[in-house]
Amino acid sequence: MARTDAIVLGAGIVGVSVALHLAKRGLSVALVDRGDPGRGTSYGNAGIIEANTLFPAAFPASLKSLIRIALKRAPEANYHASFLARVAPWLLAFRHNSAPERLIATMRAMRPLFSRALAEHEALMVEARAGRYLRHTGWLKLYRSDRAFAGTARERALATELGLPVHVMDAAAARALEPALAPVFRHAVFWEEAASVTNPLGLTRAYAAQFAALGGVAVTGDARSLHRLGARWRVETEDGPIDAEAAVVTLGPWAPDLLRPLGINLPLAVKRGYHRHFGSRGNASLARPVLDAENGYCIAPMEQGLRITTGAEFAARDAAPTPVQLNRVLPAARDLFPLGDAVEDKPWIGARPCFADSRPVIGRAPGQSGLWLAYGHGHSGLTLGPVTGRLVAELMTGATPFCDPTPYGAERFATA
Ligand SMILES: Cc1cc2nc3c(=O)[nH]c(=O)nc-3n(C[C@H](O)[C@H](O)[C@H](O)COP(=O)(O)OP(=O)(O)OC[C@H]3O[C@@H](n4cnc5c(N)ncnc54)[C@H](O)[C@@H]3O)c2cc1C
Repeated sequence: MARTDAIVLGAGIVGVSVALHLAKRGLSVALVDRGDPGRGTSYGNAGIIEANTLFPAAFPASLKSLIRIALKRAPEANYHASFLARVAPWLLAFRHNSAPERLIATMRAMRPLFSRALAEHEALMVEARAGRYLRHTGWLKLYRSDRAFAGTARERALATELGLPVHVMDAAAARALEPALAPVFRHAVFWEEAASVTNPLGLTRAYAAQFAALGGVAVTGDARSLHRLGARWRVETEDGPIDAEAAVVTLGPWAPDLLRPLGINLPLAVKRGYHRHFGSRGNASLARPVLDAENGYCIAPMEQGLRITTGAEFAARDAAPTPVQLNRVLPAARDLFPLGDAVEDKPWIGARPCFADSRPVIGRAPGQSGLWLAYGHGHSGLTLGPVTGRLVAELMTGATPFCDPTPYGAERFATA
């Protein structure tokens, strides 16, 4: 039996970042996953470190969008009819939180994390010698209609108020940045200070390697075996049981599998998403991720090819994949960019772990001493992994946290 200071359960970008930050502060840490680090949701994202994004993804405001989604014609969202009744309370809460004044409140609550997110990645990248994955080339969002572009006005005005550089462009100016794009759009917004990575798996692995270099131990095991043993927590692993006074749940969309049996029922839903890599025709390329806003997909240049990622699918986490959204967006993507053949036989699927108020839970687990939570990062877990790692490590070691953690506490659901 091994004894450590802390057990971190789940080795996605969040868990690896938490483990690394704890190890940096001199704690002995066991990082437990049932597979290799970075192979869960953190594998397949669009790679955008979107520290400048202000408003979270919101419930559709227009009846027209809702009807299109209901009729399964919308590229940005899909659903399994059999799942709707189960997810209905969450959807209602999500709609409530999508009111304009609530989006502003969420933006303010999340700013301390987002505004520090890129700097925290950069610091870890230096230590982990992973700078080769980082691109400082911004994020280009395209709008095919005047109406959709006009819908960005509030966010742009807020960005300007906060001093974040945001550039409005016509198609010609956007094509000066990305010459391979066809002029099928009318407007573009260039978020200059967004960054992106060329291989999210490679990045998570590099942080995991740095964790190991600091003496951290990565082990294979089932997090659901976590149980109390006196004042300590014990998890069973392939290397035998591991005990610690503190355990951190960083299981992303799988967190409820461990927490529910412990009596912790926080209202997490998943928004499933897909990706597939494509080649390009001729020597066409992209220097940065591009969002085709009304068509609800992103094209992100990755080491494996051009990664097309889809929007939200409301379905049971473990239901069989139904990648219809990829088929819906491909014609628009091919109009926009000279895509070549698909690289893989079938799409990848992941599940964004989402709370309806678009905030993660970071802090102590209610009613379970020594248990900490860091999950529910939704659309922004790659962005927020390292900054979450710092905050958790500061809270666990009794240091002064760099920001007020109250907005991320699990307690907010008790009073909601
Ligand atoms: C299509 C798509 C595009 C996205 N694009 C972006 C983007 O551009 N930028 C951004 O910031 N975010 C993006 N995201 C969101 C981001 O990927 C997630 O928020 C993030 O990966 C969540 O990380 P995590 O560490 O919490 O979870 P995960 O990466 O899922 O890690 C959880 C880990 O727990 C392990 N695990 C599960 N169950 C057990 C068990 N019983 N025992 C042991 N281990 C277990 C899993 O193996 C996994 O390694 C996107 C997501 C999707 C789906």
